[in-house]
Amino acid sequence: MKKISILFLTLALSAQSFAQKNASVNFSRYFTGLTMRVDYFHTGTAAEEHFSLDRILNDGPWAGSETVLLDELNRGLYFFKITDTATNTLLYSRGFASVFGEWQSTGDPSWGTFHESLRFPWPLLPVKLTIEKRDAKNNFVAIWSMVVDPKSRIVNPSVLKSTYKSFPYIENGKTSTHVDIVILGDGYTAAEMDKFHKDVATLTDELFTVEPYKSRKADFNVRAVETPSASSGVNKPHPGVFNRTPLSMSYGAFDSERYALSYDNRTLRDVAATVPYDYMFILINERTYGGGGIFNLYSTVAADNKFSKYIFVHEFGHCFAALADEYYTSDVSYQPAAVTVEPWEPNVTALLDPAKLKWKDLVKPGTPVPTPWDKTEFDNFSYGIQKERRALRAANVPETEMENLFEREKKTTLEMFGKNKYKDAAGAFEGGNYMQFGLYRSALDCIMFTRNRQEFCPACTRAITEVIDMYSH
Ligand SMILES: [Zn+2]
Repeated sequence: MKKISILFLTLALSAQSFAQKNASVNFSRYFTGLTMRVDYFHTGTAAEEHFSLDRILNDGPWAGSETVLLDELNRGLYFFKITDTATNTLLYSRGFASVFGEWQSTGDPSWGTFHESLRFPWPLLPVKLTIEKRDAKNNFVAIWSMVVDPKSRIVNPSVLKSTYKSFPYIENGKTSTHVDIVILGDGYTAAEMDKFHKDVATLTDELFTVEPYKSRKADFNVRAVETPSASSGVNKPHPGVFNRTPLSMSYGAFDSERYALSYDNRTLRDVAATVPYDYMFILINERTYGGGGIFNLYSTVAADNKFSKYIFVHEFGHCFAALADEYYTSDVSYQPAAVTVEPWEPNVTALLDPAKLKWKDLVKPGTPVPTPWDKTEFDNFSYGIQKERRALRAANVPETEMENLFEREKKTTLEMFGKNKYKDAAGAFEGGNYMQFGLYRSALDCIMFTRNRQEFCPACTRAITEVIDMYSH
Protein backbone atom coordinates (compact mmCIF):
# COMPACT_ATOMS: atom_id res chain seq x y z
CA MET A 1 0.00 0.00 0.00
CA LYS A 2 2.75 2.37 1.01
CA LYS A 3 4.73 1.56 -2.10
CA ILE A 4 1.73 2.30 -4.29
CA SER A 5 1.06 5.67 -2.70
CA ILE A 6 4.73 6.73 -3.03
CA LEU A 7 4.70 5.72 -6.68
CA PHE A 8 1.48 7.64 -7.20
CA LEU A 9 2.91 10.71 -5.49
CA THR A 10 6.03 10.58 -7.71
CA LEU A 11 3.91 10.31 -10.84
CA ALA A 12 1.63 13.11 -9.71
CA LEU A 13 4.58 15.39 -8.94
CA SER A 14 6.35 14.76 -12.26
CA ALA A 15 3.11 15.29 -14.18
CA GLN A 16 2.58 18.54 -12.29
CA SER A 17 6.06 19.93 -13.03
CA PHE A 18 5.70 18.91 -16.69
CA ALA A 19 2.37 20.74 -16.93
CA GLN A 20 3.61 23.75 -14.95
CA LYS A 21 6.68 24.31 -17.11
CA ASN A 22 4.80 23.88 -20.35
CA ALA A 23 1.78 25.82 -19.10
CA SER A 24 3.98 28.93 -18.89
CA VAL A 25 3.94 29.05 -22.69
CA ASN A 26 0.57 30.08 -24.07
CA PHE A 27 0.75 29.06 -27.73
CA SER A 28 -1.59 31.67 -29.20
CA ARG A 29 0.00 34.47 -27.16
CA TYR A 30 3.43 33.88 -28.73
CA PHE A 31 2.87 32.09 -32.04
CA THR A 32 0.88 32.45 -35.27
CA GLY A 33 0.26 28.76 -36.05
CA LEU A 34 2.77 28.62 -38.91
CA THR A 35 6.22 27.00 -38.92
CA MET A 36 9.39 29.09 -39.07
CA ARG A 37 12.37 27.33 -40.65
CA VAL A 38 15.89 28.65 -40.10
CA ASP A 39 18.33 27.24 -42.68
CA TYR A 40 22.04 27.55 -41.91
CA PHE A 41 25.44 26.14 -42.76
CA HIS A 42 27.25 24.17 -40.08
CA THR A 43 30.97 24.26 -40.81
CA GLY A 44 34.06 23.07 -39.03
CA THR A 45 36.77 20.55 -38.39
CA ALA A 46 37.10 17.75 -35.86
CA ALA A 47 38.07 20.42 -33.30
CA GLU A 48 35.89 23.48 -34.05
CA GLU A 49 32.51 24.42 -35.49
CA HIS A 50 30.81 27.54 -36.87
CA PHE A 51 27.32 28.54 -38.01
CA SER A 52 26.22 30.91 -40.75
CA LEU A 53 22.67 31.82 -41.71
CA ASP A 54 21.33 30.75 -45.09
CA ARG A 55 17.67 31.83 -45.05
CA ILE A 56 14.54 32.02 -42.89
CA LEU A 57 11.35 30.66 -44.42
CA ASN A 58 7.70 29.87 -43.86
CA ASP A 59 7.51 26.07 -43.74
CA GLY A 60 3.70 25.83 -43.68
CA PRO A 61 1.22 25.15 -40.87
CA TRP A 62 2.70 24.10 -37.49
CA ALA A 63 2.36 20.31 -37.12
CA GLY A 64 3.77 19.94 -33.60
CA SER A 65 2.05 20.12 -30.24
CA GLU A 66 0.59 23.44 -29.09
CA THR A 67 0.76 22.48 -25.41
CA VAL A 68 4.05 20.54 -25.04
CA LEU A 69 6.49 23.10 -26.42
CA LEU A 70 9.47 22.45 -24.17
CA ASP A 71 11.60 19.35 -24.62
CA GLU A 72 12.44 17.86 -21.24
CA LEU A 73 13.79 14.52 -22.48
CA ASN A 74 17.45 15.64 -22.55
CA ARG A 75 18.34 13.80 -25.78
CA GLY A 76 20.59 14.55 -28.74
CA LEU A 77 24.10 15.91 -29.21
CA TYR A 78 22.60 19.37 -29.87
CA PHE A 79 19.70 21.33 -28.40
CA PHE A 80 18.04 24.54 -29.55
CA LYS A 81 16.00 27.08 -27.62
CA ILE A 82 13.65 29.85 -28.68
CA THR A 83 13.27 32.64 -26.10
CA ASP A 84 11.16 35.79 -26.16
CA THR A 85 13.69 38.65 -26.35
CA ALA A 86 11.49 41.07 -24.35
CA THR A 87 10.83 38.84 -21.34
CA ASN A 88 13.52 36.14 -21.75
CA THR A 89 10.75 33.49 -21.48
CA LEU A 90 11.70 30.10 -22.89
CA LEU A 91 9.06 29.45 -25.59
CA TYR A 92 10.22 26.33 -27.39
CA SER A 93 13.09 23.84 -27.18
CA ARG A 94 14.14 20.63 -28.88
CA GLY A 95 17.05 18.17 -28.84
CA PHE A 96 18.50 17.10 -32.18
CA ALA A 97 21.46 15.54 -33.93
CA SER A 98 23.01 16.39 -37.28
CA VAL A 99 25.07 15.07 -40.19
CA PHE A 100 27.79 17.53 -39.10
CA GLY A 101 27.87 15.90 -35.65
CA GLU A 102 28.18 12.44 -37.22
CA TRP A 103 30.88 13.63 -39.59
CA GLN A 104 32.82 15.30 -36.78
CA SER A 105 32.88 12.03 -34.81
CA THR A 106 34.67 10.26 -37.69
CA GLY A 107 37.79 12.32 -36.92
CA ASP A 108 38.18 13.50 -40.54
CA PRO A 109 40.97 16.12 -40.37
CA SER A 110 39.59 18.29 -43.23
CA TRP A 111 36.95 21.06 -43.15
CA GLY A 112 33.31 20.11 -43.67
CA THR A 113 30.14 22.13 -44.36
CA PHE A 114 26.65 20.73 -43.98
CA HIS A 115 23.30 22.41 -44.49
CA GLU A 116 20.83 22.15 -41.58
CA SER A 117 17.38 23.45 -40.62
CA LEU A 118 15.65 24.21 -37.35
CA ARG A 119 11.86 24.35 -37.31
CA PHE A 120 9.73 25.95 -34.59
CA PRO A 121 6.37 27.72 -34.27
CA TRP A 122 6.33 31.09 -36.11
CA PRO A 123 6.79 33.77 -33.40
CA LEU A 124 4.67 36.93 -33.27
CA LEU A 125 7.53 38.99 -31.77
CA PRO A 126 11.36 38.92 -31.99
CA VAL A 127 12.93 35.80 -30.49
CA LYS A 128 16.43 34.62 -29.74
CA LEU A 129 17.50 31.32 -31.26
CA THR A 130 20.27 29.57 -29.30
CA ILE A 131 22.05 26.36 -30.31
CA GLU A 132 23.67 24.35 -27.55
CA LYS A 133 26.01 21.36 -27.67
CA ARG A 134 27.08 18.76 -25.13
CA ASP A 135 30.36 19.37 -23.33
CA ALA A 136 32.73 16.62 -22.14
CA LYS A 137 30.40 15.92 -19.21
CA ASN A 138 27.35 15.77 -21.50
CA ASN A 139 25.91 19.09 -20.24
CA PHE A 140 24.50 21.47 -22.86
CA VAL A 141 26.51 24.66 -23.47
CA ALA A 142 25.47 27.52 -25.83
CA ILE A 143 27.63 27.64 -28.99
CA TRP A 144 25.67 29.99 -31.28
CA SER A 145 22.76 32.41 -31.10
CA MET A 146 20.95 34.96 -33.24
CA VAL A 147 17.91 37.22 -32.89
CA VAL A 148 15.10 36.57 -35.34
CA ASP A 149 12.66 39.42 -35.90
CA PRO A 150 9.70 37.95 -37.82
CA LYS A 151 9.01 41.40 -39.33
CA SER A 152 12.52 41.86 -40.72
CA ARG A 153 13.44 41.69 -44.43
CA ILE A 154 15.62 38.60 -43.90
CA VAL A 155 12.52 36.59 -42.99
CA ASN A 156 10.59 35.31 -46.01
CA PRO A 157 6.93 34.71 -45.04
CA SER A 158 5.73 33.65 -48.50
CA VAL A 159 3.78 30.40 -48.70
CA LEU A 160 5.54 27.41 -50.25
CA LYS A 161 3.71 26.28 -53.38
CA SER A 162 4.95 22.71 -53.69
CA THR A 163 4.81 21.14 -57.13
CA TYR A 164 5.12 17.63 -55.70
CA LYS A 165 2.22 15.22 -55.44
CA SER A 166 1.45 13.92 -51.96
CA PHE A 167 -0.91 11.30 -50.58
CA PRO A 168 -2.14 10.37 -47.09
CA TYR A 169 -1.57 6.80 -45.89
CA ILE A 170 -2.85 7.07 -42.29
CA GLU A 171 -5.01 10.01 -41.18
CA ASN A 172 -6.07 9.88 -37.55
CA GLY A 173 -6.75 13.53 -36.81
CA LYS A 174 -5.40 17.01 -36.06
CA THR A 175 -1.66 17.53 -36.64
CA SER A 176 -1.23 19.30 -33.28
CA THR A 177 -2.36 16.24 -31.29
CA HIS A 178 -0.75 13.57 -33.47
CA VAL A 179 2.73 12.48 -34.49
CA ASP A 180 2.99 13.46 -38.17
CA ILE A 181 5.37 11.39 -40.29
CA VAL A 182 6.26 12.31 -43.87
CA ILE A 183 7.69 9.58 -46.11
CA LEU A 184 9.79 10.56 -49.13
CA GLY A 185 11.16 8.20 -51.78
CA ASP A 186 14.32 8.41 -53.88
CA GLY A 187 15.36 6.43 -56.97
CA TYR A 188 11.75 5.67 -57.98
CA THR A 189 10.93 6.55 -61.60
CA ALA A 190 7.48 7.90 -62.57
CA ALA A 191 6.67 4.38 -63.80
CA GLU A 192 7.62 3.00 -60.36
CA MET A 193 5.25 5.25 -58.36
CA ASP A 194 2.88 2.34 -57.71
CA LYS A 195 5.82 0.51 -56.17
CA PHE A 196 6.56 3.58 -53.99
CA HIS A 197 2.93 3.55 -52.76
CA LYS A 198 3.25 -0.18 -52.02
CA ASP A 199 6.57 0.27 -50.18
CA VAL A 200 5.05 3.07 -48.08
CA ALA A 201 2.18 0.74 -47.13
CA THR A 202 4.35 -2.33 -46.38
CA LEU A 203 6.87 -0.50 -44.20
CA THR A 204 4.35 1.72 -42.38
CA ASP A 205 2.24 -1.37 -41.61
CA GLU A 206 5.36 -3.07 -40.24
CA LEU A 207 6.10 -0.17 -37.86
CA PHE A 208 2.66 -0.53 -36.33
CA THR A 209 3.13 -4.26 -35.65
CA VAL A 210 5.90 -3.37 -33.18
CA GLU A 211 5.30 -2.08 -29.64
CA PRO A 212 4.97 0.63 -28.46
CA TYR A 213 3.93 1.96 -31.91
CA LYS A 214 1.30 -0.79 -32.19
CA SER A 215 -0.73 0.32 -29.15
CA ARG A 216 -0.33 3.99 -30.08
CA LYS A 217 -1.19 3.79 -33.79
CA ALA A 218 -4.18 6.13 -33.31
CA ASP A 219 -1.73 8.88 -32.29
CA PHE A 220 -0.05 8.95 -35.73
CA ASN A 221 -0.64 10.44 -39.17
CA VAL A 222 1.49 9.20 -42.09
CA ARG A 223 1.68 11.04 -45.42
CA ALA A 224 4.00 10.57 -48.39
CA VAL A 225 5.40 12.82 -51.14
CA GLU A 226 6.34 11.67 -54.66
CA THR A 227 9.64 12.83 -56.21
CA PRO A 228 10.00 10.82 -59.42
CA SER A 229 13.54 10.14 -60.55
CA ALA A 230 14.83 9.97 -64.16
CA SER A 231 16.39 6.56 -63.58
CA SER A 232 15.81 3.75 -61.10
CA GLY A 233 18.02 3.38 -58.00
CA VAL A 234 20.36 5.77 -56.15
CA ASN A 235 24.10 6.47 -55.90
CA LYS A 236 26.22 3.49 -54.72
CA PRO A 237 29.89 4.47 -54.91
CA HIS A 238 31.35 1.30 -53.28
CA PRO A 239 30.33 -1.07 -56.10
CA GLY A 240 30.92 1.77 -58.64
CA VAL A 241 27.24 2.46 -59.44
CA PHE A 242 26.85 6.23 -59.85
CA ASN A 243 23.53 8.00 -60.07
CA ARG A 244 21.96 11.46 -59.59
CA THR A 245 18.46 11.56 -58.10
CA PRO A 246 16.10 14.32 -56.89
CA LEU A 247 16.88 13.80 -53.18
CA SER A 248 20.61 12.95 -53.70
CA MET A 249 20.39 9.80 -51.58
CA SER A 250 23.69 7.93 -51.54
CA TYR A 251 25.18 4.86 -49.94
CA GLY A 252 28.74 5.12 -48.62
CA ALA A 253 28.22 8.06 -46.22
CA PHE A 254 31.50 8.61 -44.34
CA ASP A 255 32.82 5.76 -46.51
CA SER A 256 30.61 3.14 -44.80
CA GLU A 257 29.15 1.04 -47.64
CA ARG A 258 25.78 0.42 -45.95
CA TYR A 259 25.30 3.95 -44.53
CA ALA A 260 22.79 5.73 -46.79
CA LEU A 261 22.21 9.47 -46.29
CA SER A 262 21.44 12.60 -48.29
CA TYR A 263 23.42 15.78 -47.64
CA ASP A 264 20.98 17.87 -49.70
CA ASN A 265 19.06 19.16 -46.69
CA ARG A 266 17.68 22.21 -48.58
CA THR A 267 15.88 20.00 -51.10
CA LEU A 268 14.76 17.42 -48.52
CA ARG A 269 13.18 20.13 -46.38
CA ASP A 270 11.43 21.79 -49.33
CA VAL A 271 10.00 18.44 -50.45
CA ALA A 272 9.00 17.35 -46.93
CA ALA A 273 7.17 20.66 -46.33
CA THR A 274 4.66 19.66 -49.03
CA VAL A 275 2.72 18.18 -46.07
CA PRO A 276 2.75 19.03 -42.34
CA TYR A 277 5.34 16.86 -40.52
CA ASP A 278 7.20 16.23 -37.28
CA TYR A 279 9.42 13.34 -38.52
CA MET A 280 10.83 12.44 -41.93
CA PHE A 281 11.53 9.01 -43.40
CA ILE A 282 13.16 8.35 -46.80
CA LEU A 283 12.66 5.11 -48.75
CA ILE A 284 15.45 4.16 -51.16
CA ASN A 285 14.43 2.15 -54.21
CA GLU A 286 17.27 -0.36 -53.83
CA ARG A 287 17.91 -3.92 -52.75
CA THR A 288 21.42 -3.38 -51.34
CA TYR A 289 21.31 -3.54 -47.54
CA GLY A 290 21.47 -0.05 -46.08
CA GLY A 291 19.94 2.84 -44.23
CA GLY A 292 20.63 5.46 -41.59
CA GLY A 293 18.89 7.46 -38.90
CA ILE A 294 19.73 10.80 -37.29
CA PHE A 295 17.78 12.09 -34.31
CA ASN A 296 15.13 14.64 -35.31
CA LEU A 297 16.48 14.87 -38.89
CA TYR A 298 15.43 11.81 -40.91
CA SER A 299 15.89 8.07 -41.24
CA THR A 300 16.43 6.06 -44.44
CA VAL A 301 16.04 2.45 -45.62
CA ALA A 302 16.66 0.40 -48.75
CA ALA A 303 13.14 -0.79 -49.53
CA ASP A 304 13.81 -4.10 -51.31
CA ASN A 305 16.23 -5.89 -49.02
CA LYS A 306 15.22 -9.06 -47.19
CA PHE A 307 15.77 -7.12 -43.94
CA SER A 308 14.08 -3.84 -45.01
CA LYS A 309 11.27 -4.16 -42.47
CA TYR A 310 13.79 -4.62 -39.69
CA ILE A 311 16.05 -1.76 -40.87
CA PHE A 312 13.02 0.56 -41.18
CA VAL A 313 12.02 0.07 -37.52
CA HIS A 314 15.65 0.17 -36.30
CA GLU A 315 16.58 3.39 -38.14
CA PHE A 316 13.35 5.11 -37.18
CA GLY A 317 14.32 4.36 -33.55
CA HIS A 318 17.43 6.56 -34.00
CA CYS A 319 15.49 9.36 -35.69
CA PHE A 320 12.39 9.33 -33.50
CA ALA A 321 13.65 8.64 -29.99
CA ALA A 322 17.45 9.19 -30.20
CA LEU A 323 18.07 5.51 -29.46
CA ALA A 324 21.72 4.41 -29.49
CA ASP A 325 22.83 1.41 -31.48
CA GLU A 326 23.12 -1.44 -29.01
CA TYR A 327 25.43 -3.47 -31.26
CA TYR A 328 29.18 -3.25 -31.03
CA THR A 329 30.78 -5.96 -33.18
CA SER A 330 30.20 -4.51 -36.67
CA ASP A 331 32.37 -1.93 -38.42
CA VAL A 332 31.27 1.66 -37.98
CA SER A 333 32.82 4.97 -38.98
CA TYR A 334 32.96 6.31 -35.44
CA GLN A 335 35.92 6.36 -33.12
CA PRO A 336 34.43 5.87 -29.67
CA ALA A 337 36.41 7.23 -26.75
CA ALA A 338 36.69 5.44 -23.40
CA VAL A 339 33.50 5.80 -21.35
CA THR A 340 34.00 8.03 -18.32
CA VAL A 341 30.66 9.87 -18.28
CA GLU A 342 27.14 8.49 -18.42
CA PRO A 343 25.87 8.52 -22.04
CA TRP A 344 22.77 10.66 -22.63
CA GLU A 345 21.12 8.04 -24.87
CA PRO A 346 18.11 6.51 -23.08
CA ASN A 347 18.97 2.86 -23.89
CA VAL A 348 22.64 2.55 -22.88
CA THR A 349 24.39 3.15 -19.59
CA ALA A 350 28.00 3.21 -18.39
CA LEU A 351 26.73 1.76 -15.09
CA LEU A 352 29.07 4.07 -13.19
CA ASP A 353 26.77 3.75 -10.18
CA PRO A 354 24.61 0.58 -10.41
CA ALA A 355 22.37 1.95 -7.63
CA LYS A 356 21.39 4.81 -9.97
CA LEU A 357 20.79 2.70 -13.09
CA LYS A 358 18.61 4.95 -15.29
CA TRP A 359 16.03 2.21 -15.97
CA LYS A 360 16.25 0.84 -12.40
CA ASP A 361 12.47 0.96 -11.98
CA LEU A 362 12.14 -1.53 -14.87
CA VAL A 363 14.45 -4.13 -13.25
CA LYS A 364 12.71 -6.77 -11.12
CA PRO A 365 14.17 -7.48 -7.67
CA GLY A 366 16.49 -10.49 -7.81
CA THR A 367 17.93 -9.70 -11.26
CA PRO A 368 21.71 -9.26 -10.89
CA VAL A 369 23.18 -5.97 -12.17
CA PRO A 370 25.31 -6.28 -14.25
CA THR A 371 23.31 -9.19 -15.67
CA PRO A 372 25.22 -12.32 -16.71
CA TRP A 373 25.05 -13.53 -20.32
CA ASP A 374 27.21 -15.65 -22.64
CA LYS A 375 29.10 -12.64 -23.91
CA THR A 376 32.37 -14.37 -24.83
CA GLU A 377 30.53 -16.99 -26.91
CA PHE A 378 28.49 -14.26 -28.63
CA ASP A 379 31.49 -12.00 -29.26
CA ASN A 380 33.59 -14.79 -30.80
CA PHE A 381 30.75 -15.79 -33.10
CA SER A 382 29.73 -12.23 -34.00
CA TYR A 383 33.26 -10.98 -34.80
CA GLY A 384 33.61 -14.04 -37.08
CA ILE A 385 30.40 -13.07 -38.93
CA GLN A 386 31.66 -9.50 -39.37
CA LYS A 387 34.87 -10.83 -40.92
CA GLU A 388 32.83 -12.87 -43.41
CA ARG A 389 30.65 -9.83 -44.10
CA ARG A 390 33.65 -7.67 -44.99
CA ALA A 391 35.00 -10.41 -47.30
CA LEU A 392 31.62 -10.77 -49.07
CA ARG A 393 31.28 -6.98 -49.58
CA ALA A 394 34.86 -6.75 -50.89
CA ALA A 395 34.12 -9.57 -53.34
CA ASN A 396 30.94 -7.68 -54.46
CA VAL A 397 28.83 -10.88 -54.27
CA PRO A 398 25.08 -10.92 -55.09
CA GLU A 399 22.89 -9.53 -52.25
CA THR A 400 21.42 -13.03 -51.65
CA GLU A 401 24.77 -14.24 -50.26
CA MET A 402 24.83 -11.39 -47.76
CA GLU A 403 21.21 -12.09 -46.78
CA ASN A 404 22.09 -15.79 -46.25
CA LEU A 405 24.93 -14.77 -43.95
CA PHE A 406 22.54 -12.61 -41.90
CA GLU A 407 20.03 -15.50 -41.71
CA ARG A 408 22.76 -17.82 -40.39
CA GLU A 409 23.78 -15.19 -37.85
CA LYS A 410 20.16 -14.79 -36.74
CA LYS A 411 19.60 -18.55 -36.31
CA THR A 412 22.72 -19.06 -34.20
CA THR A 413 22.22 -16.01 -31.95
CA LEU A 414 18.55 -16.89 -31.37
CA GLU A 415 19.66 -20.36 -30.17
CA MET A 416 22.39 -18.82 -28.04
CA PHE A 417 20.02 -16.28 -26.40
CA GLY A 418 17.30 -18.91 -25.91
CA LYS A 419 19.46 -20.64 -23.29
CA ASN A 420 19.96 -17.50 -21.17
CA LYS A 421 18.29 -17.41 -17.77
CA TYR A 422 17.64 -13.67 -18.09
CA LYS A 423 16.52 -13.66 -21.74
CA ASP A 424 13.21 -11.96 -20.91
CA ALA A 425 14.42 -9.83 -18.00
CA ALA A 426 15.32 -6.16 -17.78
CA GLY A 427 18.82 -5.72 -16.37
CA ALA A 428 22.19 -4.38 -17.49
CA PHE A 429 23.89 -6.50 -20.16
CA GLU A 430 27.43 -5.50 -21.11
CA GLY A 431 28.14 -4.39 -24.70
CA GLY A 432 26.44 -1.58 -26.61
CA ASN A 433 26.80 1.61 -28.64
CA TYR A 434 29.94 0.32 -30.48
CA MET A 435 31.66 -0.52 -27.18
CA GLN A 436 32.50 -4.15 -26.43
CA PHE A 437 33.11 -3.27 -22.79
CA GLY A 438 32.02 -0.51 -20.42
CA LEU A 439 28.54 0.18 -21.83
CA TYR A 440 25.39 -1.78 -20.97
CA ARG A 441 21.94 -2.27 -22.52
CA SER A 442 18.66 -3.01 -20.74
CA ALA A 443 17.89 -6.46 -22.20
CA LEU A 444 19.65 -9.39 -23.80
CA ASP A 445 18.10 -8.59 -27.19
CA CYS A 446 16.49 -5.57 -28.89
CA ILE A 447 15.82 -4.20 -32.39
CA MET A 448 18.71 -1.80 -31.72
CA PHE A 449 21.04 -4.79 -31.06
CA THR A 450 20.32 -7.66 -33.51
CA ARG A 451 18.11 -8.53 -36.48
CA ASN A 452 16.63 -11.42 -34.46
CA ARG A 453 13.17 -10.22 -33.44
CA GLN A 454 10.97 -7.18 -34.00
CA GLU A 455 10.91 -6.29 -30.32
CA PHE A 456 12.37 -3.32 -28.44
CA CYS A 457 14.01 -3.69 -25.02
CA PRO A 458 12.24 -2.06 -22.03
CA ALA A 459 14.49 1.05 -22.11
CA CYS A 460 13.85 1.65 -25.83
CA THR A 461 10.11 1.02 -25.44
CA ARG A 462 9.85 3.67 -22.75
CA ALA A 463 12.01 6.14 -24.69
CA ILE A 464 9.73 5.82 -27.75
CA THR A 465 6.58 6.17 -25.65
CA GLU A 466 7.88 9.42 -24.15
CA VAL A 467 8.30 10.95 -27.63
CA ILE A 468 4.83 9.82 -28.75
CA ASP A 469 3.45 11.54 -25.62
CA MET A 470 5.28 14.77 -26.49
CA TYR A 471 3.67 15.03 -29.94
CA SER A 472 0.20 13.72 -29.16
CA HIS A 473 -0.80 16.18 -26.42
ZN1 LIG B 1 16.84 -1.36 -26.91
